[in-house]
Amino acid sequence: MPAQPAQSPVTVLGLGLMGSALAAALLKAGHPTTVWNRTAAKTGPLAAQGAIPADTARDAVEAAPLVIVCLTTNDGVRGLLEPEADALKGRTVVNLTNGTPAQARELASWAAAHGVAYVDGGIMAVPQMIATPGAYILYSGADATAFEAHRATLSALAAPKWVGEDPGLAALYDLSLLTGMYGMVMGVAQAYALIGSEGIAAREFAPLLRDWMAAMTDAVVPGTAEAVDAGRHLTDVSNLAMNRDAYPNFLQAYADQGLRGDLFAPFQGLLDRAVDEGYGADGLSRLVTLLKQG
Ligand code: NDP
Repeated sequence: MPAQPAQSPVTVLGLGLMGSALAAALLKAGHPTTVWNRTAAKTGPLAAQGAIPADTARDAVEAAPLVIVCLTTNDGVRGLLEPEADALKGRTVVNLTNGTPAQARELASWAAAHGVAYVDGGIMAVPQMIATPGAYILYSGADATAFEAHRATLSALAAPKWVGEDPGLAALYDLSLLTGMYGMVMGVAQAYALIGSEGIAAREFAPLLRDWMAAMTDAVVPGTAEAVDAGRHLTDVSNLAMNRDAYPNFLQAYADQGLRGDLFAPFQGLLDRAVDEGYGADGLSRLVTLLKQG
């Protein structure tokens, strides 16, 4: 009798930069891995590593009880999965495509109506970090048992972090974490543009910027959390009235140095509103409460 594979079979749909890294990690962990991609040529490098290329998405789905999907958007996921509903019945779909909580909940409802176990995921890593210790993946879904059944397999990709049975939660955590990252990216971009406006090399400025941002992160992230959860925003550190009055200096300096200020300009409106609404003595944590619509 031929030896049974020690690891369970897995299918990966979508072999972009991330999907290819996921499939490679599964192969490395010894999982028989079937792969499919809309542009078939992308299966080549994975086939060379031992993956089984499928001619059609349906063939790929039928090859494994666990189907991992990683496309550009959830519109693509819906378009791909809907015609395969009957083949997906009884299997588990783990969707690692970036999306919104509402999209995840919609896909979960569609899957439940078709007898498909659906787990949504958010990858907190770039492809090069897959299967390395720094990476983790957020998961959520109504069917925690389906997730648990595949936890060991999913661990080959990155450390799994289950965040709850509302299918939208993984996307909510993911987008919240990435919101912090994009804020940082905007700050870094504007800072290098400003320092560079006088010919100072970004590399020269980088150590100062990194240390400053690390110190601010250590203070602001936990400090703001405490203030927000306690509903106590009064501060003796850096109040909104002072920040409101100092902020025009930034926008003026960007203009004086020949830079665009449109990334940072809207923040002035938020500071003005905070002070106009009577929160001038509060710290920056107050802004969290002013971001709700209505
Ligand atoms: P790529 O652009 O490298 O790959 C996109 C993949 O989606 C390709 O396989 C593409 O197929 C496929 N695709 C797009 N639209 C469709 C469709 N309508 N039907 C079928 N297949 C489709 O992107 P990544 O691999 O980098 O990203 C994939 C997902 O992972 C995204 O949601 C991204 O936000 C998320 N992610 C990416 C990270 C990264 O650092 N790269 C980090 C964390 C999350 P084809 O080859 O035929 O074009």
